[in-house]
Amino acid sequence: MANAARPVVLWFRGDLRLRDQGAVAAAVATGQPVVPLYVLDDETPGRWRLGGASRWWLDGSLRSLAADLAGAGSQLVLRRGETVAALSGLVHETGATAVFAGVAVEPWARALSERLETAMRQSGVAVHWHRTVSLFDADAIRTQSNGPYSVYSPFARACFARQPPRPPSDAPARILAGPDCSSDDLNSWKLTPTSPDWAGGLRESWMPGEGGARVQLRRFVADALGQYDGTRNVPSVEGTSRLSPHLHFGEISAGEVWHAARGAAADTGKPLETFLKEVLWREFSMHLLWHHPRLPEEPLRREFGSMPFRQDRAALAAWRRGRTGIPMVDAGMRQLWQTGWMHNRVRLVVASFLVKHLLISWQEGESWFWDTLVDADLASNSANWQWIAGCGADAAPYFRVFNPALQGAKFDPSGDYVRRFVPELTRLGKQYIHTPWDAPETVLAEAGVRVGETYPRPIVGLEAGRNRALAAYRSLDRVGAG
Ligand SMILES: Cc1cc2nc3c(=O)[nH]c(=O)nc-3n(C[C@H](O)[C@H](O)[C@H](O)COP(=O)(O)OP(=O)(O)OC[C@H]3O[C@@H](n4cnc5c(N)ncnc54)[C@H](O)[C@@H]3O)c2cc1C
Repeated sequence: MANAARPVVLWFRGDLRLRDQGAVAAAVATGQPVVPLYVLDDETPGRWRLGGASRWWLDGSLRSLAADLAGAGSQLVLRRGETVAALSGLVHETGATAVFAGVAVEPWARALSERLETAMRQSGVAVHWHRTVSLFDADAIRTQSNGPYSVYSPFARACFARQPPRPPSDAPARILAGPDCSSDDLNSWKLTPTSPDWAGGLRESWMPGEGGARVQLRRFVADALGQYDGTRNVPSVEGTSRLSPHLHFGEISAGEVWHAARGAAADTGKPLETFLKEVLWREFSMHLLWHHPRLPEEPLRREFGSMPFRQDRAALAAWRRGRTGIPMVDAGMRQLWQTGWMHNRVRLVVASFLVKHLLISWQEGESWFWDTLVDADLASNSANWQWIAGCGADAAPYFRVFNPALQGAKFDPSGDYVRRFVPELTRLGKQYIHTPWDAPETVLAEAGVRVGETYPRPIVGLEAGRNRALAAYRSLDRVGAG
C-alpha cells in the first residue's frame, strides 16, 4: 500500500477538541486518512484512574467530540484496555504509518508515552508529540541557573516575559476518513451512573464538550471578566470563568482562553492581569508535577512527612457529606457533591479545615476531590492540597489557619452562598448564618433551626482545632523550630 493511502492514528488523551489542537492539525496536514482514537485505560493510571465525576464528564465530552468528528467526515474509534496494546492493535489493523498525540504531564502518562514510543519504534511507526494542554512546555520555563521553579511569582514573571501563545488555529473543516474500524459502543462503558443516579446536579450545571467550553468562555468574557478582580472571591456570584473542567479535558486550549481574555481587555480596557495569573497557577501546577512526579503522594517538603495526622473516620465522613456544623465548610462540600465543582475560595476553606482543624491528612482530601470534582486534575489538585497543608512549593505558611466562620463573614457576608447549599439554615439571618451555635435561642427558633438536631453542632471547636493543629505542626523537627 502506498504511504498516501495508509492512515495515521490520531490519539486523543487530555485534549478532547478539534480547534487549536496541534496533534489534530499535524495529523490532517499529512494528507493521509486519519483514524481518531480514544482509549479508556483503567489499568495504567493505578490509583489515579478516573473518578466518578470525571467519568460522567468524559462521557459527555466524548459524545461531543464524536459528533464534531462526524461533522468533519470522520469517525471516533473507542477502545478499552491497556493503551499501548490498544494502540498497537489499531496500528496493526489499519497499517498506520504514524501516531499523533499530545504530551501529558502525569507521571503514569509520561511512562506510558515512553512505552508507546518503544513499541512503535519496533514496528517502524513514528510517534509525533504536540503540546496540546498547556501554554508552555512543562520544562521550558527555567530559572537563571536552568533549574525548575519552586516559587510561583518568579515563575509567573518568567511566563509573562515569554512570547505570548500563538493565536488559536481553526478546527479542520474536513478530515480524510480512515478505514472502517471496530469501535466500542460508548454506552457499554457505563461512564454515567444509573442507580442511584447522583448526576442530576451535574447535568443541570454543565455542558461538557468543545461547544460547551466555547459558550462558557464567551459568557465569562462578556459578563464577568471585567469585574473579575472584585468578584472572583465571592462564591455566591458567578464571578469566575468555571472553565476548569473544560480546560482539564482539553475541550478548549489554554491559548484560546488567553487570547480571548486579552482581546476583550484590549477592546474594553478592562484589567485582566489577575485572571491570567490564575491561568498561570495551572501552568505552575503542571511544572511542579513534571519536576516532582511524587507530588500527588508525598509532601514536597520532607520535614512534613511525619505530621501526626489523625485517623478519624467519623470526622472525615462528616466533612465529605457537608455535616461538620460549620456552615461555610458544609456549603462548599455540598456544592461539590451536588455540582461536581466548588468555588476556589471555598476549596481553600474546606481544605484548611480538613487538614488543620480536623488534623486529617491532605491525601484524604485530595482523594475525595479526585472522585467528586469534574475538574479533578492530578497536577492542580495535588499542588493545591500541598499548598494549603503548608508542605508544598511556595506553600501557605503552616501557621495560617483559615477561620471558616470569619472567611464566611468576609466572602459571603449576606450568607446567600450558605443558604443555597445548606437549606436547613435558609431562614437564618446574616448575623448568625456563619455561626449558628452563637445565635440566641429565640433567633434559632424563629429560623426553625435546632443546633444538634436540624443542623449539626460543630464537630470541632474552631479555637481548639486551631490550637491542636499548631501544636502538631510545631512538633515536627525543623518546622516548629523554623
Ligand atoms: C484544595 C484545592 C484543590 C484544587 N483542585 C483542583 C483540581 O483538581 N483541578 C483544577 O482545575 N483546579 C483545582 N483547584 C484550583 C481552583 O480551585 C480551580 O481551578 C478553580 O476554582 C476553577 O474555577 P474557575 O475555572 O472558575 O477558575 P478561574 O478563577 O476562572 O481561573 C481560570 C483558570 O485558571 C486555573 N486556575 C485558577 N486557580 C487555580 C489554582 N489555584 N491552581 C491551578 N489552576 C488554577 C483553572 O484552570 C481555571 O479554570 C484546587 C484548589 C484547591 C484549593
